[in-house]
Amino acid sequence: MFKHLIKQFYLSAACISLFIAGCHSDRIAPKITPEDTVRPLRFPGEESIPESRYHIAGFSVENRPIEYFDIGDGEDVTLILAAIHGNEQAGMLIARRIIQYLQEHPGILKNRKVVILPGANPDGIAGNTRCNARGVDLNRNFFTENRVNNDLFGTEAFSEPETRAIEQILREYVPDRIISIHEPLACVDYDGPGGEELAAHIADYCGLPLRKLGARPGSLGSYAEESLNIPIVTLELPEDAGELDSERLWFFYGSSIIASVIYPDGSGYYFFQKEKIETDGPEKKGYGK
Ligand SMILES: [Zn+2]
Repeated sequence: MFKHLIKQFYLSAACISLFIAGCHSDRIAPKITPEDTVRPLRFPGEESIPESRYHIAGFSVENRPIEYFDIGDGEDVTLILAAIHGNEQAGMLIARRIIQYLQEHPGILKNRKVVILPGANPDGIAGNTRCNARGVDLNRNFFTENRVNNDLFGTEAFSEPETRAIEQILREYVPDRIISIHEPLACVDYDGPGGEELAAHIADYCGLPLRKLGARPGSLGSYAEESLNIPIVTLELPEDAGELDSERLWFFYGSSIIASVIYPDGSGYYFFQKEKIETDGPEKKGYGK
């Protein structure tokens, strides 16, 4: 009887191990995606995946976290922010995608740091509205010489928690350049010293025309120019950008984002892995004009 019980025990144990082994092999079965066929560019000795650090800069009017990331430890800092107007959400997808790209291509981060704020206006994003939950246009709420105080632009500069959060990020990281992604004017606008050269460089990569839209009261662009003395590019995506998925947006605009990070280096296409993109390709050139 005792022997019989031992036999039963071993049989059960064998069955359980087989079952576990089966589950385990299912779980580790490799999944090949098209991305895997593209070999990341890495410099020797930089094989490890750089950590993307998650932060919360503050909370919106409706108490949503204002989330951002930084990656890399270098001196040269690029800040990329999107969706300060909550109904302009295509840039959000691009901003999120760049984190993944930088992790796959750590060579870009040599001597550089990239700070990414994908959703600068969380309440506006949730409600698909331009303004924040109090009806304030955040891109008119900064401190500038031409500032106007009213309900739409805020009763005073930095009256909104979202603009204060952006200001805090600017103070902490002191970026060398800012890229702010908007819609739907289909152009590359600029402010600040050296902004025109940076914008022209970015325009070369994305095929959108360089255009000076003019200083808007209380805008981040004017604030960066007057108070921070750094270049800022407003990348205005075309109207139909909102209909494109993340991969398509990255295809059209990824190289211009990479080019802005490695600026003034002109090898954005070298780092950008979609070798199939041709600078003068008919599809790319015609898009967004
Ligand atoms: Zn906008």
